[in-house]
Amino acid sequence: MGANPDTQPLLSVGAARARLLARFPKQPVETVKLTRAGGRVLAETIYAQFDLPPFANSSMDGFAVRTADIQAARPDQPVCLRVVADIPAGMAVEGVVGAGEAIRIMTGAPLPEGADAVVPVENTDFSGRSGGLPAPEVVCIYKAERAGANIRPRAEDVRTGEAVLSAGSLLRPMEIGFLSMLGVSEAPVHRQPRVAIFSTGDELLPVEAPLGPGKIHDANSYTLGGLVEQAGGVAIQLGIIPDDIQAVRSALQKAVTLKSDLILSSAGVSVGAFDFVRNVVEEDGALDFWRVNMRPGKPLAFGSYQNIPFVGLPGNPVSATIGFLVFVRPAIWTMSGLRDSNYQAIRVELGEAIESDGRETYLRAVISQPGANASGQALVARLASHQGSGNLRSLVLANALLIIPSGVKSLPAGAMVEAWPLGDLH
Ligand code: AMP
Ligand code: MG
Repeated sequence: MGANPDTQPLLSVGAARARLLARFPKQPVETVKLTRAGGRVLAETIYAQFDLPPFANSSMDGFAVRTADIQAARPDQPVCLRVVADIPAGMAVEGVVGAGEAIRIMTGAPLPEGADAVVPVENTDFSGRSGGLPAPEVVCIYKAERAGANIRPRAEDVRTGEAVLSAGSLLRPMEIGFLSMLGVSEAPVHRQPRVAIFSTGDELLPVEAPLGPGKIHDANSYTLGGLVEQAGGVAIQLGIIPDDIQAVRSALQKAVTLKSDLILSSAGVSVGAFDFVRNVVEEDGALDFWRVNMRPGKPLAFGSYQNIPFVGLPGNPVSATIGFLVFVRPAIWTMSGLRDSNYQAIRVELGEAIESDGRETYLRAVISQPGANASGQALVARLASHQGSGNLRSLVLANALLIIPSGVKSLPAGAMVEAWPLGDLH
């Protein structure tokens, strides 16, 4: 049986999160094509199978030369060389640059033997930069170059055998492109966690249904679904479940049938009269209520149903969202295999004084660059309208959550606090 929250010890947010995360193992590994691997988390370290670049090549369109030949080159006294070959990008090197010779070369083309620099076409008398023009028979060079100039040496970026990406890395577009250059066409990644989501409450209607007396539209299914996908999970929408034992039971059953890795509900877990979710979860699992020292945030319901982790978030849309960001997002990240499930906070300066009640408090805020006449350099945070936990608009207006540590009752304008950006700060 879940304990009455009022008789449980008060857990710090950090302790509650650590206890919760300890119950989420990493997802098993699957291999996916590189084109489908974006946003996933690498499950194994990747070692380079070859050098990058794989061969020394030119970083300019120009002429591969021997620097010894062009030491004396000046604009008024060019050194002229015989052009013995032409190397477009994508072709193997043919020919060697001998004394008094040059080979025309394109950006990315392999450096021919004998050459130790590339003279950019701008420093020559050859003005035929447009494609299709044949190489000249003779080229005159206006400027000396040091050895190695305009050459990208082999293995400048990556050496064969080097560990280039470690297990636990998020595969962003940059990593995907990098893996492609390394010839890695499939990536071992953790399976995406499947998160079943349902909203409970007799007052809730889907967005399409017109409101009736006492009814409101469901927000949490939509918000939580988006947050799950943003965190890298797959959202399985089970819809709105009435405050009814049988309905909650079949929703939980459906989550099991659909092979969920986590069941996420909102509302219906308070100690109020209609806490059906709690009773049903306990029929075939266990549910704990944790009194977490945070605001907003009622007791967090955490447990399992048929061995699938279950998190019951508060019903108020702001509380549900913040509860998700504090507890569920790191759980999804942990399951996804991400190396660090801590969200990186940034430091911001309070643009106004704030009050708190001593619990760890998450305030909706708007962060902006310091104004032209501001003295400091820090990002400045101001509160976003009404902080009531039913007012979802405040979260729409906010671009960050300020984290006021426990034990703090007030802070003056100018104090530095930690903040979680909610997406990009524009
Ligand atoms: P409860 O946790 O059931 O006591 O709900 C707390 C408050 O959140 C009540 O005002 C509910 O109407 C509201 N609420 C619960 N679920 C949702 C939801 N999915 N979307 C919007 N508001 C909700
Ligand atoms: Mg309710």
